[in-house]
Amino acid sequence: MIVERDVPLARFTTIGTGGPARLFARPQSLAELEEALAPAADEALSVAVVGLGSNLLVADEGVDALVLRLEGELASVEVRAETLVVGGGAANAVALHAARNAGLAGFEFACAIPGTAGGGVRMNAGAYGRDWEAVVSRALVVDSAGHAWRTPDELGMTYRHSNLGAGQIVARVEFGLEPGEPDEIKAKVKELNALRKAAQPTNRRTFGSVFKNPDHELSAGRMLEACGLKGHRIGGAQISPKHGNFIENADGARSEDAIALMAEARRRASEQFGVALEHEVRFLGALELP
Ligand SMILES: Cc1cc2nc3c(=O)[nH]c(=O)nc-3n(C[C@H](O)[C@H](O)[C@H](O)COP(=O)(O)OP(=O)(O)OC[C@H]3O[C@@H](n4cnc5c(N)ncnc54)[C@H](O)[C@@H]3O)c2cc1C
Repeated sequence: MIVERDVPLARFTTIGTGGPARLFARPQSLAELEEALAPAADEALSVAVVGLGSNLLVADEGVDALVLRLEGELASVEVRAETLVVGGGAANAVALHAARNAGLAGFEFACAIPGTAGGGVRMNAGAYGRDWEAVVSRALVVDSAGHAWRTPDELGMTYRHSNLGAGQIVARVEFGLEPGEPDEIKAKVKELNALRKAAQPTNRRTFGSVFKNPDHELSAGRMLEACGLKGHRIGGAQISPKHGNFIENADGARSEDAIALMAEARRRASEQFGVALEHEVRFLGALELP
């Protein structure tokens, strides 16, 4: 496996910001993944993994770590009876396509989530009333100590949360689905995509939801809209004029611009609603919300 140095991570994130990874590798199999993790443990080098970077903000200064991207067998997609078996690095769109062709329903909600199977486990991604926890049977988690299958219960999957820590990598995921008509699956996906297009910016560079929805009658998006933040801009980043809980790369944004917008959003939500917004987007590198 080739280990590259100083690879710019901006091209691996949907917002398109962030500096380089000190080391970067693309393991193609479980053996290569374990091989990559072993020396990192010996040298006390941090290990991180990126999926499609669709909920990720990377420090502008870069990341002093070995950053992995799962490819090859670790991004494969296969159907076995009513189980969709996919590599942790497989894109949701590819997995959904295979499920539909095999007449397996229940994964349609993922059409709106532009990430990978492994990223979905880490985030317990969800949309339209369904999430990963509802469809994952088990996930193969690898770290420097070896690998083990875990159920959603063992993964502690709750709203946009799992108990996976840094250096714990989802190499494979099994989704338990149910038989469905491919035409009906296609129609459902079309309906969900239309709903998404009406409510959210779909042709802009973003990292999806910035904050988790708070325990409040208003969603994070509605709350930030009520704070007058739609369209608010700092540097090259702006809060989407269409949805208050999205930050867009409007023009040459840096991650620090996004962080400044997030800090302002938290300040206003706290002042106007007494709510401490918790960020959903994951940070990579030395990033902190003031
Ligand atoms: C336009 C848009 C719409 C979105 N809509 C939704 C939505 O409706 N619902 C929703 O839940 N999310 C949504 N998101 C956010 C995002 O798509 C999800 O959180 C997705 O699951 C992230 O997957 P990823 O592979 O891109 O992970 P990344 O963004 O690359 O990483 C996110 C976190 O997961 C970790 N990770 C990634 N891969 C693995 C792995 N194999 N093993 C262990 N950890 C891993 C990373 O280290 C990081 O901590 C949206 C994003 C965009 C840009």
